[in-house]
Amino acid sequence: DSKRRAYNGWQSYTDDLARRQRDRLQVDFQMRGALDNNELSLLYQPQVDLRTGLVVGAEALMRWHNSQLGVMRPDIFISHAESTGEIIRLGAWALREACMQVRRWRDEGHNTVRVAVNVSYRQFLADDLAGTVEAALSAAGIPGTALELEFTERVLIEDEPDTLRIFAQLRDLGVMLSIDDFGEGYSGLNYLRRLPIHGLKLSQLFLQGVPTNTSDVAVCQAVSGIARSLGLGLVAEGVENEAQRRFLVDLGVPVGQGYLFAPALSPDDFIQLLNTPPYAKHGT
Ligand code: C2E
Ligand code: MG
Ligand code: MG
Ligand code: MG
Repeated sequence: DSKRRAYNGWQSYTDDLARRQRDRLQVDFQMRGALDNNELSLLYQPQVDLRTGLVVGAEALMRWHNSQLGVMRPDIFISHAESTGEIIRLGAWALREACMQVRRWRDEGHNTVRVAVNVSYRQFLADDLAGTVEAALSAAGIPGTALELEFTERVLIEDEPDTLRIFAQLRDLGVMLSIDDFGEGYSGLNYLRRLPIHGLKLSQLFLQGVPTNTSDVAVCQAVSGIARSLGLGLVAEGVENEAQRRFLVDLGVPVGQGYLFAPALSPDDFIQLLNTPPYAKHGT
């Protein structure tokens, strides 16, 4: 009987494995057609001045809608695309698309709104990233200063000899460089002095317990202190309530994004938000 149970357990394990493998192949296959079939889109989450509520920028966030697979969570399909290398094509598309949106905002008179695009460590290592970025900027006819690139600490712990050179190339294009989900990684702080970055994004992980959890509060204070003493910008992610906003303002954090202000919006909804006078935006 116990042998039989063991056998059944093994059987369902191998069935499971086979199914997972099939699922993976199916996702791979569908993802290879995603660009050509227009299944990808970018949404734009406003980044706002935490004091005034004014929109200063947006983070472009990728969405994939496939007729067979439906809608998949970005963190899931992105990490999948990273493992197959498909993220290099998807990421280049996102850069072009986001720059074209900035063009559209500028055409409507919003000349100072910047777009932030997430860049995977795979794009960083495999692609001529600076070349791709430069082409996207010039196709849209926008200056490098209108674009921000978000890297996770993963890029830094890869410790490629090229890392510094690529960061310098990107900086020379005028684009802003920031470290996403700051504090979640374990890359140490040394790179903050070595790399020509402009800002940090405080991970939403640490904002969740604010203002009641004392260790979350301490981490937020520490990150804010690091940013200030190194002369770096700071954006708080995942601002969901007024108490968190208040806390961040008191801490001197200038910019935030989160559901308190808006979720990621369609391009049309984002433009509409930009066109709304500020007094209507934060209820006078
Ligand atoms: P991220 O870059 O850290 O983006 C922030 C995530 O937090 C987004 O999730 C956003 O929708 C979510 N968020 C925003 N405000 C709040 C809030 O108030 N509370 C909470 N709980 N969450 C909030 P999303 O869109 O699901 O994206 C997940 C991750 O997928 C991103 O994390 C990023 O790492 C990756 N990703 C998305 N688009 C791209 C892309 O175009 N390229 C690359 N390489 N990665 C991307
Ligand atoms: Mg990001
Ligand atoms: Mg983040
Ligand atoms: Mg993240």
